[in-house]
Amino acid sequence: MTHDVIIIGGSYAGLAAGLQLARARRRVLVINAGMRRNRFAGASHGFLTQDGTPAAEITAKGRAQLLAYDTVEWLSGEATRAEAVEGGFRVTVGDTCEKRAGRRLVLALGVKDHLPGIPGLEERWGRSVFHCPYCHGYELDRGRIGVLATSPKSIHHAMILPDWGQTTFFLNGAFSPDPEQTEQLRRRGVVLDDGVIDRLDGDGATIVMRDGRVVPLDGLFTLTRTSTASPIAEQLGCAFDEGPTGAVIRTDAIKATTVPGAFACGDAARMAGSVTLAVGDGALAGMAAHQSLIFGG
Ligand SMILES: Cc1cc2nc3c(=O)[nH]c(=O)nc-3n(C[C@H](O)[C@H](O)[C@H](O)COP(=O)(O)OP(=O)(O)OC[C@H]3O[C@@H](n4cnc5c(N)ncnc54)[C@H](O)[C@@H]3O)c2cc1C
Repeated sequence: MTHDVIIIGGSYAGLAAGLQLARARRRVLVINAGMRRNRFAGASHGFLTQDGTPAAEITAKGRAQLLAYDTVEWLSGEATRAEAVEGGFRVTVGDTCEKRAGRRLVLALGVKDHLPGIPGLEERWGRSVFHCPYCHGYELDRGRIGVLATSPKSIHHAMILPDWGQTTFFLNGAFSPDPEQTEQLRRRGVVLDDGVIDRLDGDGATIVMRDGRVVPLDGLFTLTRTSTASPIAEQLGCAFDEGPTGAVIRTDAIKATTVPGAFACGDAARMAGSVTLAVGDGALAGMAAHQSLIFGG
């Protein structure tokens, strides 16, 4: 059977795309490897009506509501290849190399975070080490906050984080602010620490410096480097744009990629992500994919 649309990625963006298509009574296949970006965090914050809900609960409810439409099929597994063929796309899934056909494709792949290689950081990711102040800053209760510099772009983090608590900017050899930036940081009340970090320790995100100092923190923020969670879009020949943390799939105003008939949404196709933005993006991609089945493009 040829599906109207195959969606690769069944998290916030993919589920939202699927819902629009299912409600247009289209045959949809969702292929999902189940590796949501926020799987390291307990609760998800900032998504209207679901603020503080466990992240997995939101996707489980979304999936149940989507699968209530009888034109939707769900396949748990990894899409390993997608190719443009006459009339649409062929997608290869999992170890069995099962092949599925769809007239349109929606890539809702999400991104992978590549974390700074500081001992103790990875196991605290999503618990006391974060990248998004809007998602996890409030819960730190105006406590002691650190910003770990990974590049000059980290100054943005250091400038905004004082709204969530007393902020120390750990330069860690990654960045040296110029006098004007130093003055801007001072005006925001940010403390600069130009030492080198040895490791993270303790229940929160206590920093142990190479010079032996121990700096207890309630939370640490850092910019990660990101890449799309799967190479499918590159394989397909989609163009990418360089974003502040890594390359994202290039899309136009209706989420069409540079490959005709393929759409992309969510973190993989925008410069900065959140659940709210992924859901909005996914809904747009779903509607655009639906209308392209009627009008072409
Ligand atoms: C630690 C942490 C905490 C966060 N907390 C919040 C928060 O509180 N609030 C908030 O709004 N945002 C939060 N975010 C951001 C949020 O996780 C993302 O913006 C959101 O998950 C993006 O949704 P998405 O659907 O684009 O991608 P994802 O949720 O990452 O989902 C992508 C899906 O596609 C699947 N996939 C990828 N490639 C393939 C393939 N080849 N075949 C099959 N399936 C595939 C993946 O396995 C995954 O299931 C947090 C992020 C992190 C890292």
